[in-house]
Amino acid sequence: MTTGKGGHEQLIIGILALQGAYDAHAKAIASLGGTPKLVRLPSDLEGPGGRLIDGLIMPGGESTTMLKFLEQRGFFDLLKDFVQKTPTFGTCAGVILLARDVTNPVQKSLGALDVTVERNSYGRQIDSAILHAQSKFPGGELEMVFIRAPRIVRTGPAVETLASRDSDPVLVREGHLLAATFHPELGHDTRIHQFFLDMVREQKSKSDNR
Ligand code: GLN
Repeated sequence: MTTGKGGHEQLIIGILALQGAYDAHAKAIASLGGTPKLVRLPSDLEGPGGRLIDGLIMPGGESTTMLKFLEQRGFFDLLKDFVQKTPTFGTCAGVILLARDVTNPVQKSLGALDVTVERNSYGRQIDSAILHAQSKFPGGELEMVFIRAPRIVRTGPAVETLASRDSDPVLVREGHLLAATFHPELGHDTRIHQFFLDMVREQKSKSDNR
């Protein structure tokens, strides 16, 4: 067994690296003692012996471009199945991919997270903004970098809101899925990545003890 910082078992976190802001996620995970692994092909997710990563991050970027890559080599179908059971953290475009329903315009998605998102929903002047808000995390306000962000316009009954922008949920969790409509990887605050690593560790210890 490989152990990382604090004597914990090393967690391998896949970062979907087809397009977009994946590098900053990899740095955040490494700074917290996790092992980032860039995922570019279906074979980076699963090998003949099973799952190759303990959790997955789907970064921000352009969801339509990511979809084009995913529609090759059966990647979309494999990923759809993968995110049903593996801890996954979507940020911005990653939330659009994870969502059950997408509008503006309607778009194909993995359908795993029980939310409806409206793409590019915050209007032109505030397309991009840095805001601060309270959240369910101890340690003060979160810095939230929004870049042409989607808006979560509906959350299912099992979805917990961890932070909001006015009345819109912007950081939500549903079981093994975490989603932020902003870019936590672009600030210096690693609380959300740490929270995701804790989710991954928890799920890993459950499946190891089975
Ligand atoms: N506007 C992008 C989309 O619709 C998302 C923007 C982002 O990820 N920063 O896919």
